[in-house]
Amino acid sequence: MIEIVNVSKRYGSNTALDDIQFTIEEGSCYGLVGPNGAGKSTLIKILSGVLQDFEGDIMVQEDSVAKNRMKVKKRIGYIPQDICLEETLTAQENLTYFGSLYGLRGRDLKRRTAEVLDQIGLKERGKDKVLTFSGGMKRRLNIGCSLLHKPAIIIMDEPTVGIDPQSRNSIFSIINQLKSEGSTIIYSSHYMEEVEHLCDSIGLIDKGKLIESGTMEALLAKYKKPSLFIAGDQLEIELLSRHGHVEPKGNGFLIESERPLSALQDLIGEFRKNGIEPSRLELYQPKLEDIFFNLTGTQLRDS
Ligand code: ADP
Repeated sequence: MIEIVNVSKRYGSNTALDDIQFTIEEGSCYGLVGPNGAGKSTLIKILSGVLQDFEGDIMVQEDSVAKNRMKVKKRIGYIPQDICLEETLTAQENLTYFGSLYGLRGRDLKRRTAEVLDQIGLKERGKDKVLTFSGGMKRRLNIGCSLLHKPAIIIMDEPTVGIDPQSRNSIFSIINQLKSEGSTIIYSSHYMEEVEHLCDSIGLIDKGKLIESGTMEALLAKYKKPSLFIAGDQLEIELLSRHGHVEPKGNGFLIESERPLSALQDLIGEFRKNGIEPSRLELYQPKLEDIFFNLTGTQLRDS
């Protein structure tokens, strides 16, 4: 288990993290979600032992990051947001270099380099220089560099920013494979849909504070409000609000209703009577984005 205990971090007068406290279960995939500037990278750097000057502590299976940083670091594979590779070397040479930094030598290093090249889908490109790689391939190699020592905990800071959908999918397969092997994964992102898709637990961070934490199921159950989503040109709020509280959402409206199915039937009747044809009308399942909106009053859009 990883326990984040009252962690705060200030940069001059700017409080990047304010008394953060939560736990991450072993073998889970934990998503750290929040807008840009929320404090995700700062927390990840502290967790990975990269940033040493902070208040509070983090316990990784009983070992303190503050007191025993090097011991904890050996169990962690940290994948930074910025790609950190030597472009004039081949993929294989980069992996070999990082493996040697983790203390691997000789046959073990050779074997792990080959295994990781395969794991990140770059087996055929191992002997090519990194400068010939696409952005997505570099990101995958960047991930590979942190896996050579077989860390039990893998920490990824926004690994899919600025890459094509195909590379994004191949990063998801790497993560799914690591999950199936029982690794603990901490995944930071401002893309809600990615986190929903990959993670079983989440922490929502906003302006340096943890505003919610728990399993995806528990959070959705806690904040779930039965709703209808409706979109179309001729909609009038007055008519919609007869059926519950109305909030604009994307190109339409969300209507909260205790009895969404009856509201849906009634609305269809009223639309027929008034000659209104909505472009979409459906029962709505709340998403992470709605929880964030509920808690902060601001949208966290994929951007
Ligand atoms: P996120 O990863 O969620 O985008 P960060 O952890 O990068 O957020 O940043 C949190 C806050 O800390 C922001 O206000 C950012 O400007 C500030 N910050 C981050 N790194 C530094 C730094 N090295 N020096 C000063 N301020 C920083």
